[in-house]
Formats: sequence, structure tokens, C-alpha cells
Amino acid sequence: MIRIERSKEVPSPLVASKAKDRYRHKEVVDRLRSDFHDKCYICEIGPVQDPEVEHRLPHKDGRFLERKYDWSNLFYSCGHCNKVKNKQKYDAGIIDCCVRDPELLLEQELIGEDVRVRALNKSDSEACLTAQLIEEVFTSESTPLRTHASDVRLKALQRQMNLLYSSLSEYVSNKDDFVAKKTVRTLLRSETPFAGFARCYVRKHLDMYPELAAYLP
Ligand SMILES: [Zn+2]
Repeated sequence: MIRIERSKEVPSPLVASKAKDRYRHKEVVDRLRSDFHDKCYICEIGPVQDPEVEHRLPHKDGRFLERKYDWSNLFYSCGHCNKVKNKQKYDAGIIDCCVRDPELLLEQELIGEDVRVRALNKSDSEACLTAQLIEEVFTSESTPLRTHASDVRLKALQRQMNLLYSSLSEYVSNKDDFVAKKTVRTLLRSETPFAGFARCYVRKHLDMYPELAAYLP
């Protein structure tokens, strides 16, 4: 999860319409897709094949109507993460990545084959809940379909991290290697899938390539 700059202007269907499903209006979805770099804000897979408009604070079938059409409560997610998050334990609220920077609050790592996410401050309940959720979307096996979706995301993250490791080792062996440096730079951009994991790795190994700090937010 990374910090997202939400566009300030509220999409017009949210204010000018009374339609029940207006939070899924094309204008709202298009704006979310653009603001969130066409990546799921939870697992960071992208481009999202099955996008959904996710309510960070659930509206509970309209019981919390003010949350349903509130621009600041609408997030761009994949179908898998939206379903995994739909549990009472997450209702208290995960990190609002448009307000707080998740990279300052979480350590997001791939260790061996396992996704490990931990809150840097154990008394930060939003960060603890977010860490739990991010791990869950990569490991959930509650149904066969969900097992498959978790695995697709884990494999995609592993491929991306392997590309990062190989590009970094090429870069370290020859710091004039323009292609390797460009690949690393691309992998660290907010627009790139799993940038939160890639940047956490580079941040932890900055002693080997301190100059890459310039590519970190
Ligand atoms: Zn997702």
C-alpha cells in the first residue's frame, strides 16, 4: 500500500445525482482508476482486471448512507481484496492511504515465499489492521476461488520482486548500467504494481546503493 493523491474535486455524479448506484458511475470509476494508477490500493496488483469501488468504511447496505457516496470514502480495489476485506474485523477502518502515508506506518516485505506486513507502531490500530489485511489478501484460502486469487497475487508479487533483485544486482555490479538503473527506477514508481514492497526493500538496503534514495518518495 502506498500514499495516493486523491483529486480534490468531487466527481459530479456524487453531488448532482440521486441514483442509488452513483458511486459506480463511469466518471467516479474513471477518476478512481486515474488517481489510484489503475492499481488495487490493498494488494497493489495492476492494471486491475476486475475493479470495484471499495468503501473503506463500510456503508452496511446503506445503513451508513453518508459513507456510501462520500468521495473520501471511495477507493479503487480488485474484486478479491474487496471480498477479503468484507469482514467485521476490518470495519473499524484500515489506513486511509489518501490521508496517511502507509509507507511510514508499515513494513511491507516478501520474505522467501511469504508476505510479511507489520505495523511499525503496535498501538496504531489502523496500521495493525491494514497489515493483517494485506497479508490476508495474499494468503486467504477460505474458498478454492479465493485460494486461486491469492496465489495469482502472490505469484505476481514474486515476479516483480525477482525483477527488482536481478536489476539491483546488475546495477550494483555496474553502476553505469543505464538499463538496470532505469528498470529499478521504474519498479519504484508509484504507478508500478507492488511499489510499496519494492520501495520497502530498497529502503532496507540503502547502504548498498544510497543514491537510490532519490527515487524513493
Ligand atoms: Zn487487490
